[in-house]
Amino acid sequence: MCGIVGYVGSRMAASILLDGLAHLEYRGYDSAGIAVAGSGGSVTVRKAAGKLSALVESLNGELPVGSSGIGHTRWATHGRPTFENAHPHTDCAGNVIIVHNGIVENYLELKKELLDSGHTFESETDTEVMSHLIELHLAEGENFE
Ligand code: GLU
Repeated sequence: MCGIVGYVGSRMAASILLDGLAHLEYRGYDSAGIAVAGSGGSVTVRKAAGKLSALVESLNGELPVGSSGIGHTRWATHGRPTFENAHPHTDCAGNVIIVHNGIVENYLELKKELLDSGHTFESETDTEVMSHLIELHLAEGENFE
């Protein structure tokens, strides 16, 4: 079962997210990832297949800098437990970054429509259709809410 954690505040988000994910490890998972928003709108995504310790090791002591972010431990339903399929997932431009718990039942239908309209996918997950779908609607002038 996956775990999701989020943080917005004045402290460094990355260590809080990693700590939160560690508290969720008991639920079981196959990969883990975080996205941290830094100043000036930049967002750093880091993920790893396997244990949370693999993610921490991949950071090499360099925690992404920023005071808000999201984290995820994945329990695969659609797509293998790989680096590419680990969350967070992004849209084409890297502006919409999401983590998700559950299943998008109609993801194949949505994915076909998105592929037909030019979106490119990095993963095999059902989750990734949502970042591209949000991207599509934002491009059509809708606001995020
Ligand atoms: N269905 C999504 C996936 O396979 C989310 C799985 C989960 O809840 O961790 O990536």
